[in-house]
Amino acid sequence: MTTIGIPKGLFYFEHHLLWESFFYNLGCDVEVSDDTNKEILDCGVKYCSNETCLPVKVFHGHAYSLKDRVDYIFIPRYTSVDKNEYTCPKFCGLPDMTLLNLKRQFKVLEVKINMDAKPEETLKSLQEIATALKINYPDVVEAFKAALETYNNNKRNTGISEAHLNSNIAQTAISLLGHPYMIYDSYLNMKLIDKLKARNITVFTPRDINHETKRKNAYPFEGKIFWDVGFDLLGSAFTFASSPGIKGMIYLTPFACGVDAFVLEFIERRLKEQYNTPLLKLTIDEHTGEAGFDTRLEAFLDMIG
Ligand code: SF4
Repeated sequence: MTTIGIPKGLFYFEHHLLWESFFYNLGCDVEVSDDTNKEILDCGVKYCSNETCLPVKVFHGHAYSLKDRVDYIFIPRYTSVDKNEYTCPKFCGLPDMTLLNLKRQFKVLEVKINMDAKPEETLKSLQEIATALKINYPDVVEAFKAALETYNNNKRNTGISEAHLNSNIAQTAISLLGHPYMIYDSYLNMKLIDKLKARNITVFTPRDINHETKRKNAYPFEGKIFWDVGFDLLGSAFTFASSPGIKGMIYLTPFACGVDAFVLEFIERRLKEQYNTPLLKLTIDEHTGEAGFDTRLEAFLDMIG
């Protein structure tokens, strides 16, 4: 049986159900890399240039950790997941970048997702998967459709609207903003969510707000071509900022993220001009020490009471 490795980084945190279901539907074994740890981080740092953002470095470490255990490593090529919405360029080149930086030590399978400009690319890449795995093309398309349905059913009805946000806040609450591969990777975020929960603080993240609300509140970018993650973060920040129950906002940003350099600046300015929400910006790189991180967090939490 063919074994497909899925690195637990970047796209994994939002789309793992889709891709795991897809390969299970094809009759493959799926091996997901371990949770991020020091070895994985150090390996990613070793194989990437200094200027690479932290999550991409970590992704390389995950891919490397799988290379001797699987037949193929799956790295999708996300260009656009919706109309007028584009991914960060590093997602567009992820299969090539990972393969080249890791010296072609494994075989890659990819599916292209380019919903704004070339949705037909997905079907073409499914044809390539059919050839590589020696499976009939119609069966691969069926497996993909079924996986998409599983994913959509699971995602449906997740997140609440603005109107429901405040009625869901019962105790001290803060919003945690950042890319999913930062705020849900407990090694990279130094167990931030656990630390907040241990202090009886309710944590809201972009996942808690529904898609429509985030797009509506991503002023002034709604309806224009823009980064999908930028829409999510701007829309979430301004939704949370309008909610009196949210006492503060923490933005967790990885070192060298081009998207955050722009989005975070815009959020900071607007929070200052229009809202009273305190904001703590925590930048993480491979050298960040937990003691300094915790000190800043404690000081912020003391300030917001
Ligand atoms: S959005 Fe930022 S953190 Fe994510 S891959 Fe792009 S540069 Fe890296």
